[in-house]
Amino acid sequence: MIPFIDLAAQQARLKPAIDAAIQRVLAHGAYVMGPEVADFERRLADFCGAAHGLSCGNGTDAIALPLMAWEIGAGDAVFCPSFTFAATPEVIPWTGATPVFVDIAPDTYCLDPARLEAAIAAVRAEGRLRPAAVIAVDLFGQPADYPRLAQICRQEGLKLIADSAQGFGCTLDGRHPVHFADVATTSFFPAKPLGAYGDGGAVLTDDEALWERMDSLRVHGKAVAGDTAGRVFDHDPKYLNMRIGMNSRLDTLQAAILIEKLAAFPAEIAARQAAADRYAQGLNGHCLATPTVIDGATSVWAQYVIEHANRDGLAAHLKAQGIPTAVYYPVPMHRQAPYAAFPQGPGGLPVSDAKAELVLALPMHADLTPEIQDRIIDAVRGFNG
Ligand SMILES: *Cc1c(COP(=O)(O)O)cnc(C)c1O
Repeated sequence: MIPFIDLAAQQARLKPAIDAAIQRVLAHGAYVMGPEVADFERRLADFCGAAHGLSCGNGTDAIALPLMAWEIGAGDAVFCPSFTFAATPEVIPWTGATPVFVDIAPDTYCLDPARLEAAIAAVRAEGRLRPAAVIAVDLFGQPADYPRLAQICRQEGLKLIADSAQGFGCTLDGRHPVHFADVATTSFFPAKPLGAYGDGGAVLTDDEALWERMDSLRVHGKAVAGDTAGRVFDHDPKYLNMRIGMNSRLDTLQAAILIEKLAAFPAEIAARQAAADRYAQGLNGHCLATPTVIDGATSVWAQYVIEHANRDGLAAHLKAQGIPTAVYYPVPMHRQAPYAAFPQGPGGLPVSDAKAELVLALPMHADLTPEIQDRIIDAVRGFNG
């Protein structure tokens, strides 16, 4: 079997730098919130042109932190796609708020702005929930339609989260999702475009007060500068807890590894783009669809997803030739038992349902060679099912 994502090839490429970074952390021993954490946060924010970066334990907590900081909760509606990873809707009921599932655009798999407007109007008309926020997802690596989504959110007075766990590094007109949204979040799960050697996540934002509240929330609601200003304590304010938070920190070791991976990331994005171009050239006309990226956008190609009427037949055909594939996502969230009762936008989720039957992800990573890619392309073209 050829690898679906070749993390071993990446490690071989970066090994001296990563080994040295790990040794530096072992030498200073500050395993939790050591100096590499703030260093990495600064570099990550600079990379995407955000004022602030806040690391945390994983990409799921990264979406929960802004919701908690905004005190979104019971009675609030948070709009999100159903055609996404479970983490996107999962954090909404954590806060007491209600997810409202909105369908995706058929060409990009990202939130459909027209469907979002209709869903917000329907929730307002019903009057049971207060529209509070939107979580857009940069599915498979490309930015959602942020100019339109941001305009809708501004008009309607909603917060906008860019769940960029798959899309970190993508741009629209040269700008990263955080430029358009109140916050962008990402995941450093090893298989993501920018992955660590374990779990990790981050929130990016230009909003300093929000950043400070999230900094408090990720460490048990600890007192931060805004809480202690002008007050005098006869004990260590470290043990003052100002809000109900969580424990969600990025390990120093992971931050040290990520500093090295971030340095290599621009070249990897270019390599992923070259691989995507080669797939498109080889596969156009040989399946129902190759990926479409919206005008002005660049994708980081977390996945290279094609559509095929006999998706399962094609997957079996490829597997028999030693080519792994994956289906993201076979069961949209509104079809999953714990989520089935949550409301949907008007007209339901026909595009999400249809895409679940058609999509197939091919091997995609920065170390994919043209030779292996041509083997994959030939195998897809050789399927007549
Ligand atoms: C991976 C992923 C997450 C969650 O990331 P974890 O680090 O695994 O918690 C959130 N949203 C999307 C769209 C993802 O793909």
